[in-house]
Amino acid sequence: MPNSVPPSNTADSPAPEVGAGRILVVEDELSIRDNIVYALESEGFRVDCAATGSEALEMAGKNDYQLVVLDVGLPDINGFDVCQSLRKTSHVPVIFLTARSSEVDRVVGLEIGADDYVTKPFSPRELSARVRANVRRSLLNTATTDSPPQTDDANGLPFQIDYERWEIRYYEQALALSRYEFRLLALLIEKPGRVYSRAQLMNAAWEEPDASMERTVDTHIKSLRAKLKERRVDLDPIVTHRGIGYSLREDW
Ligand code: CA
Repeated sequence: MPNSVPPSNTADSPAPEVGAGRILVVEDELSIRDNIVYALESEGFRVDCAATGSEALEMAGKNDYQLVVLDVGLPDINGFDVCQSLRKTSHVPVIFLTARSSEVDRVVGLEIGADDYVTKPFSPRELSARVRANVRRSLLNTATTDSPPQTDDANGLPFQIDYERWEIRYYEQALALSRYEFRLLALLIEKPGRVYSRAQLMNAAWEEPDASMERTVDTHIKSLRAKLKERRVDLDPIVTHRGIGYSLREDW
């Protein structure tokens, strides 16, 4: 039975289909896992389960998931390392299940490229809501490939990210970006105004982050700026925060 969601009141932004995709739930505690599976299946998601980090990575390598719910405390590889491995090949949204505030600190610090987190104990309803929100957001990001180019994406920014094509459009034209430039710019665009340190950018964009190479981030930001400037000489979308790092301009 289709969801009886009322039609969106903004005719120009049809809501993408949420609930049709497959979700990977990685949790070693059976009772928690069952609760999550039940909650997500009631929302119309198809759910696969893994009880260990290595199982999760194997399944994620074989299947195309819409989102991964990932427990931090797993018996073999911890959730942070699982996420870092995932990020080398995929931009699948990841929601962490965390048990301790020290884990929350790491997730919030975005060292590992998580999209969201839920603290245990949580209600299945709360988790479902987060899953829906994150799936919707990632669908909006990829849906731009199928629609004609628009000046503004969902955030009102002149950027559109297409993760499947590794492409970012700026004022409707694709930028010619290296892999690292793509990752850096995509990260900045996801949260305008959020300031990232060089170390955070390095961790998010490089397979083998190395603190001694943080100047490399500066080099890539410099080349990114030059490419953005080629398109719009009057704008500088990337803000430098002296002694800290970089952010994307918020006031568009
Ligand atoms: Ca656990």
